[in-house]
Amino acid sequence: MHAAPTPLTILIVDDQNATRVALTAELDRVGHRVLEADSAEWGLELFRRYRPDVVLMDVEMPGHDGYWTAREMRAAEPGGWTPIIFLSQFKQDLDIWKGIESGGDDYLVKPVSPMILHAKLRAMQRLAQMRQRLVTMSEELRAANAQLEELSSVDALTGLMNRRALDARLQQELDLARRESKPLTLVLCDVDHFKRYNDAAGHVAGDACLRRVGQLLKETCRRPSDCAGRYGGEEFALILPNTPRSGAMTYARALMRTIEISAIPHPDSPTGANITLSGGITTCVPDESTSVEGLIIRADEALYNAKSTGRNRFFSFEMQMDTQEQKSAFGTLDGGRRP
Ligand code: GH3
Ligand code: MG
Ligand code: MG
Ligand code: MG
Repeated sequence: MHAAPTPLTILIVDDQNATRVALTAELDRVGHRVLEADSAEWGLELFRRYRPDVVLMDVEMPGHDGYWTAREMRAAEPGGWTPIIFLSQFKQDLDIWKGIESGGDDYLVKPVSPMILHAKLRAMQRLAQMRQRLVTMSEELRAANAQLEELSSVDALTGLMNRRALDARLQQELDLARRESKPLTLVLCDVDHFKRYNDAAGHVAGDACLRRVGQLLKETCRRPSDCAGRYGGEEFALILPNTPRSGAMTYARALMRTIEISAIPHPDSPTGANITLSGGITTCVPDESTSVEGLIIRADEALYNAKSTGRNRFFSFEMQMDTQEQKSAFGTLDGGRRP
């Protein structure tokens, strides 16, 4: 006989000593590792313990028969598949049918011809390898899908949520705020004069600048429910659940302060020597008529206001007030002087 391509661990379950000895000798001769069990229970135990590559299973045994044992083995490896070949004295159609029904894969008639035994083992080995390849491929596919899923919700440049993820998150927070009657704030921020930045410093530096701004925005999200994302281009969004109008304005001022302190140089900005942001804020306790689109439209309109009244400020849609006016109204930062 030819040697098998790869040595296998083969479990023989048979109550007859003579059969086991003959099979073991033959399998041993070609280099397979053999486990022997003289009963269904012991066979099952060895199967669980050693996870053989193939099982040779006697049909007639005192107590539990081979069919029962095969079913138990199948149940013991959910998602797995170990080839089971039945061994029987008689070759009757019904025996073969019952063997396959109970989870067997093939059938051998005793006394087993060595040539047929090796041929069937080769066939089973080939099937097992193909199955393994399928398992590996589907694992790879799963990993690739997970990566794709991540790619489609994470902005590649900044690592923040992308627009798709932001929209989904905003919808979630909107539903939650509506249910709990809590205020929800959306902030859209846009880097001032960023076209000039690119024109003066180049796109690569522009990209680095956007990454830095993204990082700063992320760091300003102190509460676990706050989140920052890149809405597109040089526009970012912040979703601030459970944040009322005044809180949102305070948040915006803190954000402006963070950007100011970071002092990211802008090579060609009419607003100043460093990068500045303009922002639009909308806050509401959502009702039935509130939608994601509606929130974005309002934040965008407020952003437009911030841009048109001088940039480097955040405008609240509902308060019709910007961070500069608010500073003077409350006299907190600049002694009440209006700009
Ligand atoms: P404003 O103050 O009115 O917002 O002026 P702006 O120049 O920032 O606005 P505009 O919309 O005219 O230009 C936005 C610029 O942002 C143009 C585009 O080249 C740049 N930009 C958008 N996405 C990226 C990016 O991913 N990387 C780089 N480097 N630049 C980007
Ligand atoms: Mg028997
Ligand atoms: Mg823009
Ligand atoms: Mg801009």
